[in-house]
Amino acid sequence: MTVGVVGTGMSGLALVRALEQRGEEVVAFEARDEPGGVVQSRAVDGRVLELGPQRLRLTPGIRSMIDAFDLHDRLRYGADDQPIYVYHDGELKVAPLSVREAITTDLITPLGKLRMLLEPLFGPPRPGETVDEFLVRKFGRQAARRYAGPLYSGLYGTDPRNMLMEYSLGRVLEKRGVERSILLKVLESIRSDRETPPIVSFDDGIGELVAALYEAHAESIRLATPVESIRPIAGNDDPGDDGEGDKDTRYALETADGTERVDDVVVTTPAPTAAELLEPVDGDLAATLDRFAYNPIGMVFLDSGFGGRGLGTLVPPDADDVSISGLTWNASILERDRLYTAYIDPLSYPPLLEATEGELGQIAAREFERITGAAADVIHVHRWEPGMPAYDRTWTAMDDLELPSGIHLCASYVGRPGIPGRIRNAERLADDLVGE
Ligand SMILES: Cc1cc2nc3c(=O)[nH]c(=O)nc-3n(C[C@H](O)[C@H](O)[C@H](O)COP(=O)(O)OP(=O)(O)OC[C@H]3O[C@@H](n4cnc5c(N)ncnc54)[C@H](O)[C@@H]3O)c2cc1C
Repeated sequence: MTVGVVGTGMSGLALVRALEQRGEEVVAFEARDEPGGVVQSRAVDGRVLELGPQRLRLTPGIRSMIDAFDLHDRLRYGADDQPIYVYHDGELKVAPLSVREAITTDLITPLGKLRMLLEPLFGPPRPGETVDEFLVRKFGRQAARRYAGPLYSGLYGTDPRNMLMEYSLGRVLEKRGVERSILLKVLESIRSDRETPPIVSFDDGIGELVAALYEAHAESIRLATPVESIRPIAGNDDPGDDGEGDKDTRYALETADGTERVDDVVVTTPAPTAAELLEPVDGDLAATLDRFAYNPIGMVFLDSGFGGRGLGTLVPPDADDVSISGLTWNASILERDRLYTAYIDPLSYPPLLEATEGELGQIAAREFERITGAAADVIHVHRWEPGMPAYDRTWTAMDDLELPSGIHLCASYVGRPGIPGRIRNAERLADDLVGE
């Protein structure tokens, strides 16, 4: 069996590794001249900028790669015992993410705190419930709107009123084993001393892990070779049929360098590209993939002597004097010298895509100063498009996603978007492919 992998971001790289470890033949194609996808670590004036993900969690999957590539000396542990701040009423207030913070924060009024404690009385998600409706019902309006909703949905740049529980937060809670009460689950995990894996990165950024993965599997990876289309090979012209007779289905991956024939194809690109590539295989599938919406995201890297201790700042979308959606305090988390990363999404700043980079930089520096009281200079501006999967109402497309035999998806929009989740997804798929 030969597996063709389209794309070598973290999903594609982890999949190539998992398949080779299981003794499978694999060939992977990457459109760009470097692997890593949205993981892009850049050295700018002696500083490490992460254009995409800022940090990892040291899960078993990541740990086994660090062991295999002997990256221990390069590993950097983040100081994750720090608060997250919310910009509320013109001030920074601590988000109540621990018992101590819940007691001491002035983000929520005493009455709002009492309302939060009633959470176990309210049942699990209801059919058709949005993330906003669920969180308001469980924790009350203050906690839901001031931090819980934005903390979850801000990652994707989506309004919590536009996210259905069943296709977003509900899945996360289910995976974490939360049946009725989120609060009781949190208390249970504190009591059992179950620790969240620590925040980590590498001295030169997450790109070090990408480089190690690529080096170990370079023979199976063709960089700067975009797949132009995927088509079923003549003679097996019914790849949509899932029936018994379909076992020999083979596909052709067309690139500028020629055609690669494979038995199975795994597409790891964002949904819009997957739709385009898979059109010749199955028009209905392409139409379904086209329904998944994405939100572009702008990132502005700032230099500041602010020096605050914390993981970052959350800016709820209703903060009317600020249009950035949040800040990562890289200087404080990973000792990245004077570095702060500001996020701008279309929910908080609709003209994101039309604005110039200079305008985005100005907005971020000005608002950083408003929020923290410290001046900042712009180091670099980067925009991602299509950006983050939105996990909004368009995710009902999941119900119509039917894959022809031999076609597989290993991508954030059909699973967990975090890097550890991408690695787990790749491992599971490799097991399934070998099992076939
Ligand atoms: C701004 C941002 C911040 C994030 N922050 C974090 C974080 O802090 N921690 C965390 O764990 N996760 C974070 N994530 C999520 C995580 O980084 C991503 O979900 C994950 O890296 C996606 O990997 P992927 O391989 O699935 O997709 P991608 O990285 O999108 O990779 C897809 C690859 O396919 C290639 N490709 C596209 N078209 C073709 C074609 N026709 N032929 C061949 N190749 C093609 C692309 O060039 C790309 O390399 C963040 C994501 C973003 C965007």
